[in-house]
Amino acid sequence: MNIRVLGCSGAIAAGYKTTAFLLDADVLIDAGTGVGDLPLDALAAVDHILLSHSHLDHVLGIPLLADAVLRLRAAAGRPPIQVHALPETLQALRQHIFNGAIWPDFTALPTREAPVLSLHPFAIGDRLDLGGRFIEVLPAIHTVPAVGFAVDGGAAAGHAHWVFTGDTGPNPALWRRLAQLRLSHLVIETAFSDDEAELAHVSQHLCPADLGQELAQLGGSVNVHITHIKPGEVDAVMQGVRGLASPHRIGALQAGQHMQL
Ligand SMILES: [Zn+2]
Ligand SMILES: [Zn+2]
Repeated sequence: MNIRVLGCSGAIAAGYKTTAFLLDADVLIDAGTGVGDLPLDALAAVDHILLSHSHLDHVLGIPLLADAVLRLRAAAGRPPIQVHALPETLQALRQHIFNGAIWPDFTALPTREAPVLSLHPFAIGDRLDLGGRFIEVLPAIHTVPAVGFAVDGGAAAGHAHWVFTGDTGPNPALWRRLAQLRLSHLVIETAFSDDEAELAHVSQHLCPADLGQELAQLGGSVNVHITHIKPGEVDAVMQGVRGLASPHRIGALQAGQHMQL
């Protein structure tokens, strides 16, 4: 299994794309602006989109992706792209994006019988089976209902997991669950610098000081990748992160990076 980072920034600027990961060729995990870097045939190969939550920086690729691939997928007789998320997240998409005002309802286009998108609710703790690849829905704590994901590398990888926290503040339930899993990679957000700790707490994100307390609850020595840093804040956040005493191998996630499972 291969996971490619399409975007891992907290906002946009030239060279900075928001959250999106491509698992193999056909599964998107979040659909931020990074999705727009895929060529059209790669966009048309996406069969599943997993969403961590409803915030714009994680979902705005979906309406544009649907429009881009509708004709190609219809001509090839491909099934709808399945969008998997919490019921509250799917409801937010229906109400605020696919409402005929912001964007057409692509769950009923080109036809209601064979649309380009279909919506599929999951719950925290569910284990999704996407063509024999198993992905667990993890808890997250954010200003809207939110989740993270654990991708199981399978028997060949000794069931090592790639874990993405999603957007989250301090999250004790996550560490209780991760204590039961074998981890090869942890992608964890640190959206704000320590100077902006108050803003991090109000918006239910992490700053480096919080990150230190969170990682202290994770055993062993894990490859930790910091994500969701705002453009212009990378140096301040990573300086705070480097000041942490941690047994883990911590670095900043980079767009274009590949992680193997
Ligand atoms: Zn968010
Ligand atoms: Zn976000």
